[in-house]
Amino acid sequence: MTTRSDIRQRLGLRPVINVSGTMTHLGASIVVPEAIRAASDILPEWVEINDLHRKASRAIAEATGAEAGFVTASAASGITLAIAGAMTGADLARVEQLPDAAGMKDEVVIQMGHMTGYGAAIEQGIRLAGARVVPVGNVTDARSYQLAHKIGERTAAGLYVVSHHTVQYGQMPLDVFARVCHERGVPVIADLASEYDLKGFLAAGADIAIYSAHKFLGGMTAGIVAGRKDLVRATFLQNGGIGRGMKVGKESIVATIAALEAWGRRDHAAVRRTEHGHLDLWMRRFAAIPGIKATIIPDPTHNPLDRLMLEVDPETSRITAWDLADALAAGAPPVIVRDHEVEQGFFQLDPCNLHPGEAEIVADRVVAELDAARKRNAPSGRSVADRRAARFERLLRWPD
Ligand SMILES: *Cc1c(COP(=O)(O)O)cnc(C)c1O
Repeated sequence: MTTRSDIRQRLGLRPVINVSGTMTHLGASIVVPEAIRAASDILPEWVEINDLHRKASRAIAEATGAEAGFVTASAASGITLAIAGAMTGADLARVEQLPDAAGMKDEVVIQMGHMTGYGAAIEQGIRLAGARVVPVGNVTDARSYQLAHKIGERTAAGLYVVSHHTVQYGQMPLDVFARVCHERGVPVIADLASEYDLKGFLAAGADIAIYSAHKFLGGMTAGIVAGRKDLVRATFLQNGGIGRGMKVGKESIVATIAALEAWGRRDHAAVRRTEHGHLDLWMRRFAAIPGIKATIIPDPTHNPLDRLMLEVDPETSRITAWDLADALAAGAPPVIVRDHEVEQGFFQLDPCNLHPGEAEIVADRVVAELDAARKRNAPSGRSVADRRAARFERLLRWPD
C-alpha cells in the first residue's frame, strides 16, 4: 500500500477520483510502490545510462519474450522512434539526417481504421519521424490485397494498432497484416500501449511491440519498445538524433524495470476480484434507480478487465448522460467517468484505478446526482456539440 499524502491539497489541485481509465490527462496511473521505490533509490545516484538501458533491455526481453527492449519517454515516442529506426537502421549518418528522409525508405502503411489518436493523432507520430503515411483500405474495411498493393520500394514499416480507439471490425488481424508485410520484407511495428498481453502480439508476428509503462503496468511515465534486436538497436540509436527531444531519465528506466517485475509477481486473480467487488457494488447501488440501466461489459480488446456501462434515459432521469458526467466531475469529490462515447447516451465506470473506499464514494455521488436531477426536474437542454465547444474554448484559454 502506498501511503497517501496531501500533495494535491498543497498544490491547490482537486482531489479527483478516476473511474475513467489510465489517462494521461488524469496522471496516467497509480504508480506501484516498487516503481516509486526504484525511482527514489536511483535519483541521487550517478549511472552509466546506456548500461542502465542494457539492463532494461534484458528485463523487457524477459517479460515479453523479445530479443531486446528499449525504454522510451512514452509509447507515443516509441512509435516515432521505432519508425525512425526502421528507416535508418544502424546508420548514424541517417539517424542525424532525420527528419529529412531523403534517400531512405520513408513510407509507413497503416489500415485506415487504425488511424486513431491518443491525445495526438498517430499519423502525426509517423510524420514526426520524417515518414509519410500510406493509408490502407477505408475506415471500416481493409483487405490483404490492398495492403500488398500499397507496399513498395519505399515502404519502411507497417504500423498496426490494437486499441479500443480503432475501428473494431473490418480490419485485418495482426497475423494476416504481418504475413503480407513479411512476404515483402517489411517489418511490423505494433502499438499495444494499453494491452495487458506482453507476449502474444510478438508471437502473432509483430517485429516490434510498443507498450506504455505508465498504464496497466503502473510504472512512471515511459514507453517500452520490445522486439527484434536489430530494430530495437536502431530505435535506441535515435537517442543521438530525433530521440534526444524525447529522452527518458534514469528514474523512468528503473521504474519500468521495477514495474515489469512487479507485474510478473502480481496476484492478477486477486486484483480482478477487487475490481469485480467494485462492479458488484455499483450494480447493487444502481439497480433500482429509475431511468438507469447498468451493465457489466468486457474490455473491447479483450484485456482481462470489465467495466460498468451506465445508460441514462434522459426522459426519466431528467438529465442527459453528458450532463451527469459533468455534474460528477464538477462536484465534491470530483468523479471523472469514462465518457468518450457519451453522445450515445451512456458512460462507463472503470474499476481499475481506485484507492480503497473510493468505489463507495463513486456510488454515493452517482446516486446523489441522479436524485438531485429528478428533484430539480429541469433538464439543461445542452447538446453534446455545445459541451465539446466549451471544452475546446477552455483549452485555448490555458493557463487561465
Ligand atoms: C495511450 C496510448 C498511446 C500513447 O501512450 P503514451 O505512452 O501515453 O504515449 C498510444 N497508443 C495507444 C493505442 C494508446 O492507448
